[in-house]
Amino acid sequence: SEAMVEVKNLKKHFDIGNGVLLKAVDGVTFSIKRGETLGLVGESGCGKSTLGRTIIRLYENTDGEVLFKGKNAHQLKGRDAAQFHRDVQMIFQDPQASLNPRMTVMDIIAEGLDIHGLSKGARADRVKELLELVGLSKAHASRFPHEFSGGQRQRIGIARALAVEPEFIIADEPISALDVSIQAQVVNLLEDLQQDRGLTYLFIAHDLSMVKHISTRIGVMYLGKMVEMASSNELYAEPLHPYTQALLSSIPIPDPTVKRERIILQGDLPSPANAPSGCVFRTRCPKAIPQCSAEVPEWKEVGSNHWVACHLYQ
Ligand code: SF4
Ligand code: MG
Repeated sequence: SEAMVEVKNLKKHFDIGNGVLLKAVDGVTFSIKRGETLGLVGESGCGKSTLGRTIIRLYENTDGEVLFKGKNAHQLKGRDAAQFHRDVQMIFQDPQASLNPRMTVMDIIAEGLDIHGLSKGARADRVKELLELVGLSKAHASRFPHEFSGGQRQRIGIARALAVEPEFIIADEPISALDVSIQAQVVNLLEDLQQDRGLTYLFIAHDLSMVKHISTRIGVMYLGKMVEMASSNELYAEPLHPYTQALLSSIPIPDPTVKRERIILQGDLPSPANAPSGCVFRTRCPKAIPQCSAEVPEWKEVGSNHWVACHLYQ
């Protein structure tokens, strides 16, 4: 099906002084199809959140392009930019921090609706509808964020995102801060909403076990680069990049007859302000060859819809 989002050689570099550039996102290319969920994983500091924030224009890009429904998102102005900011919404990791503690749930959820000039009654009706949609009660509208549990606050964040009828939602670790018992409920809610409304998701998580169930495809990032992307099933069955192999090897397998050797990565994650030459993973890669320090591996499609950046496959 048609691509909703196309990210082309996207870069987001931060100037951190003394001529040092922190290359948080450094030349990333992929697309997201309408109606799918692209899971995005990698250790903290690998650029996942920055990528999400650059796509939605919380950050302006340093280089490259984001096309949303075929149009260059970073060049949209006026009405088109306003429409983009309704079509694309973000859900954050920490609902506590992203909900204004002095606003009622009514006002938080209705914030994005206020430009529509709704009557007070229509505004209240719409908020109550949204609360019920995310599994809360309309009686919650007059309360404040601190009166809710973490899972409920995330539902409020989801209702706020849905208020403006978005098509594409970037969920930045939406369940990482929640109790394990609540995580599945929030994932189920996001899946139900996707089915009912044909939503497209970019679902960011720090760990592969969280995204397997919800994702159509999964992308793996390391130090500002996308290193592998494939369908969820294929990535689990046949990971190609040594980093993906290491991440997967640390996930317990429920079937005791399947043996997977645990791969322990040596060394620390380098700083994105001082990334290794050649392949950014080479300082920790158990399979590195001499070429890896000299040449940046190309981002290449090596199987049907299976992309990898590694010299072992070129
Ligand atoms: Fe390892 Fe080389 Fe592949 Fe990088 S390019 S992942 S260092 S084998
Ligand atoms: Mg993050």
